[in-house]
Amino acid sequence: MRYISTRGQSPSLSFEEAMLSGLARDGGLYVPETVPTLSSDDIRALHGLSYEETAFRVMRPFVGDSFTDATFGDLIARAYAGFGHDARAPLVQLAPGHFLLELFHGPTLAFKDFAMQLIGQLFEEALTRRGERVCIVGATSGDTGSAAIEAFRGLDAVDVFILYPHGRVSEVQRRQMTTPTETNVHALAMDGHFDDCQARLKDMFNDFAFRDEVRLAGVNSINWARVLAQVVYYFSSAVSLGAPDRTVSFTVPTGNFGDIFAGYIAKKMGLPIDRLVVATNQNDILHRCLTSGDYATSEVHPSISPSMDIQVSSNFERVLFDAYDRDGKAVAQLMDELKAGGFKVSQGALQALRENFDSGRASEGETLATIRTAQGTMGELLCPHSAIGVKVAGEHRDPTVPMITLATAHPAKFPDAVEKASGIRPPLPDRMADLFDRPERLTRVGNDLTALETLIRERTLK
Ligand SMILES: *Cc1c(COP(=O)(O)O)cnc(C)c1O
Repeated sequence: MRYISTRGQSPSLSFEEAMLSGLARDGGLYVPETVPTLSSDDIRALHGLSYEETAFRVMRPFVGDSFTDATFGDLIARAYAGFGHDARAPLVQLAPGHFLLELFHGPTLAFKDFAMQLIGQLFEEALTRRGERVCIVGATSGDTGSAAIEAFRGLDAVDVFILYPHGRVSEVQRRQMTTPTETNVHALAMDGHFDDCQARLKDMFNDFAFRDEVRLAGVNSINWARVLAQVVYYFSSAVSLGAPDRTVSFTVPTGNFGDIFAGYIAKKMGLPIDRLVVATNQNDILHRCLTSGDYATSEVHPSISPSMDIQVSSNFERVLFDAYDRDGKAVAQLMDELKAGGFKVSQGALQALRENFDSGRASEGETLATIRTAQGTMGELLCPHSAIGVKVAGEHRDPTVPMITLATAHPAKFPDAVEKASGIRPPLPDRMADLFDRPERLTRVGNDLTALETLIRERTLK
């Protein structure tokens, strides 16, 4: 199994190499050269399996010979052992034909834990075997950072630096990043928005001298291994509703297009998915693009769903690569145009996108109203991101096809918005009830590449 770059100018890599490097050197993202498929019988055989067994069968064909079966199975078991729910990703019914996939039972209460906990295990195993160390730098709108820190804290083979937009993450998110005491953890509060953090991260990856010097590795959702880990719960949830003998649709609260791209991969693998619905907040570039074909960036407007306050959706490049018939040159050209403000998707490519994806958006008021009604009529307290999913899913219901909406975070991660909408202040689960008493440790940094590189160099090359 080989991985190729969406811009066509980097050599192909193994799963392990693609995982350890993150971004390709031509600026592209790694995708599998071919997507392996599971037959209807393979999918039917997933009925009744544990989450971990399903994960093994779904991911195994992508991993090649990077890990043995026994090792890969062990690492999966370790990754999910710390989850607060035996099912890992339980499915609850909201209404007739509408289900909620709860992805917030991991250690940091957001779906990012599914990928990050596994990646932590895979990195440690691969690096220990190779006798290497890496420096992980990540950009976060809040949840990736806390999940990465939780997954990598205290590991010998990694330093982890997380850039988050100063003053623009929730207090729970911030504290999850700033309270770990391990010295390999560095929380960096940067001036600007998430897109600025992500842009500086990309700059570091494109500074090859720096990249090689500190042995930079990336765990943002541009990392293929993260996408892969997220494919699993599309299978586990669809199978529990009768796949492959019943088709289902998914609605996914979307920012960087990573989670929904995992659904697209599940579909390419043979899982019978009817529609994949992109749900955005008021930062709706993806919804506008799927509606009009114009991918035009504008200013980020901070919202009550901060993990989706994104205007440059990294993983969209992966689906564009397919929509443009895997023409790396065409993708590279679009990404150049994006630097100048945006691009127009060709008619053919837009049609290809619309074969799989629908989209919708929720305003701030609609998000609050959905939290309120879901609590009142469905008895489910939603986080603002999940509420956007539920609202948009309601507009795309086909009565003959069950809809699964992904609940991406626990309501206690965003207590202010949830309380404002519902009057209920959701408590943190017991295992993290002392989060607000732990001392914080962070470094304030400017939106300045040279200063960031200097700081990272100083702290890693001791
Ligand atoms: C990261 C995140 C999203 C968006 O996921 P993408 O993979 O970036 O599309 C949505 N909701 C929550 C709670 C998140 O943490």
